[in-house]
Amino acid sequence: MVILKNVGLQTILFFETPVDLFARVFSELKPRTVVPSVRVEFCKFANANSFVRWDEDGLRFRITDVLEGAPAQILEALAYILLSKLFRRPAPKLHAERYRRYLNRKEMRRSLQLVKQMRGRKFVSGPRGECYDLEAIFEQLNARYFHSLLARPQLGWSRARSRTMLGHYDPSHNAIILSRFLDRPNIPPLAVEYVLFHEMLHLRFPVEHRGARRCVHTRAFKQAEREFRDLRAARELLKKICAADAR
Ligand SMILES: [Zn+2]
Repeated sequence: MVILKNVGLQTILFFETPVDLFARVFSELKPRTVVPSVRVEFCKFANANSFVRWDEDGLRFRITDVLEGAPAQILEALAYILLSKLFRRPAPKLHAERYRRYLNRKEMRRSLQLVKQMRGRKFVSGPRGECYDLEAIFEQLNARYFHSLLARPQLGWSRARSRTMLGHYDPSHNAIILSRFLDRPNIPPLAVEYVLFHEMLHLRFPVEHRGARRCVHTRAFKQAEREFRDLRAARELLKKICAADAR
């Protein structure tokens, strides 16, 4: 299918539709395979993820709608990325880089954050757990390491007792969430304090973007983290706790 678009009186431009574009990339990657029927849908996801599925009904691309008005070059890059993933090969560097760079642009980051805020349902329990009250610990740490200058975000415990993700800071909801795994009597306060402190540093030192690169733990972040009392003991403790529970 080709869209004809009238521009002015005489000029007719031929545009490639998303369906044509994805089909073309398919035949470039699999030149000897007959191109299956292609469907492309733009979906209201809460993030920038996009998906492809290939079954008896053909190829079905589900693309985040934040890319709906994106330049053809970017959709093309995404087509290479998704199809390469489907064929289990690395995406061509040019396209991977182009796509990452586009998503990393300031306006794009802002609109993704908005989309996430509005569509993503974030579960934030209260700060008071069964053993630990995150609000009280936050204020202690705030006084001790931040001159009480850090504005308190939402604080809560995760629903799942994850041992691998002990805490995270979610900037789009301005929330620090600790794993419920830590809210237990056999977990020493130092462990909870350290994980919360680390997430508070994420609040204090936002992610830095340099071109396509993201720097999460910046130099300033790491330097500030070293001020934590018993940093080494705290890290050892976490390692031990996680290892013990795994058995
Ligand atoms: Zn971190």
